[in-house]
Amino acid sequence: MNIAVIGGGINGLCCAWRMARSGHRVSLYERSGIMRATSSASSKLLHGGLRYLENREFGLVKEALRERSAWLERAPELAHPVSLVIPVYRQGRRRRFTIGIGLFIYDFLAGESALPKSSWLPRQAVLERSPGLDADGLVGGYEFFDGQMDDYQLGLWVAHQAGKSGVSIFENSEIVRVDPQGAITLGSGEIRHFDRVCNVTGPWAVRLLRASGIASPLELDLVRGSHLVLNVPCPQAMLLEVPGERRILFVLPWKGKTLLGTTEVRQLLDDPIECSAEERSYLLAVFRHYWPDAEFDVEQQFSGLRPLIRGHQDPNRTTREYAVTRQGSLISVFGGKWTTAMSLAEKVTDAL
Ligand SMILES: Cc1cc2nc3c(=O)[nH]c(=O)nc-3n(C[C@H](O)[C@H](O)[C@H](O)COP(=O)(O)OP(=O)(O)OC[C@H]3O[C@@H](n4cnc5c(N)ncnc54)[C@H](O)[C@@H]3O)c2cc1C
Repeated sequence: MNIAVIGGGINGLCCAWRMARSGHRVSLYERSGIMRATSSASSKLLHGGLRYLENREFGLVKEALRERSAWLERAPELAHPVSLVIPVYRQGRRRRFTIGIGLFIYDFLAGESALPKSSWLPRQAVLERSPGLDADGLVGGYEFFDGQMDDYQLGLWVAHQAGKSGVSIFENSEIVRVDPQGAITLGSGEIRHFDRVCNVTGPWAVRLLRASGIASPLELDLVRGSHLVLNVPCPQAMLLEVPGERRILFVLPWKGKTLLGTTEVRQLLDDPIECSAEERSYLLAVFRHYWPDAEFDVEQQFSGLRPLIRGHQDPNRTTREYAVTRQGSLISVFGGKWTTAMSLAEKVTDAL
């Protein structure tokens, strides 16, 4: 079949690559440059999403854990295992027992993974791993493993593989209209015809349908997440409870520096996708809470827009699941995580 994929984020690139491997002729259209939007503004984790277990999303976590392993095998030079510690404090909202059960389930859902299983670390070991960490009320911590990647470079690697499989990639090519008969309209007004058109435009999926006069089968909640890069090394990756909240922040080693994120702020599609002063203060307050004596500067900040299928009032509890819908020859993707991009591509290929 002759297929158009619209969107050059990780989901569009994986779809294009997967379809080309099945023998389809694929053209991918990206309105700016590939991997320039949400997919390069992630927390850079290939993970099952431990905290989604609290929302009982066992299916999603299991799928993501399988995909985590697949990425680590597929591109070992751009993705590697990372040790993460969850420090447990007496004053924390989650008890040691609850976290232990969660990690037991996480390990179980991971099945035969090459990554080590989680284990308990005594208080002193946690403090040795992260000098300067607030010791007040610290009981110890759990260590577990996930994958870490260079999201931008890994996406370019996928694009390279897609190209080798025959995908034609058109950058700076905005699609202004799609239709269920398989036609797409470029910004220049030129119309091209395909057997199938895949709308994989992430946060912009509903907008493209509306601009085309097509009712969207699903709605998206757009939730901005911001990160800061601090100019100090991060000796140990950690998952930290935001004091007084159930939210979790990541503190991760990133190219010799510290990556700190993330936030959850609902916004409209036309609002700027930028870290606000409030988000910056929020992130820094949490970091200073845990490392009160740390000296550092903020070197960089970046933000992305999560395309979440509309559901829960609280973005923290909204599902990270994705959905693939079909209207005639038009297939649309809603939601999804970086980690699950390849299994999403599998489902979109099935939907062809
Ligand atoms: C703060 C944050 C942290 C995250 N952390 C993680 C994580 O650690 N691990 C994980 O697994 N997931 C994570 N995610 C989720 C993950 O990053 C996203 O789900 C994923 O990147 C979405 O990819 P996408 O290809 O669907 O969208 P995008 O990457 O946004 O790609 C869509 C593309 O479509 C293009 N486009 C839009 N409209 C048009 C048009 N009309 N014509 C042509 N092109 C168009 C856009 O320019 C864009 O390049 C995170 C998300 C956020 C926001």
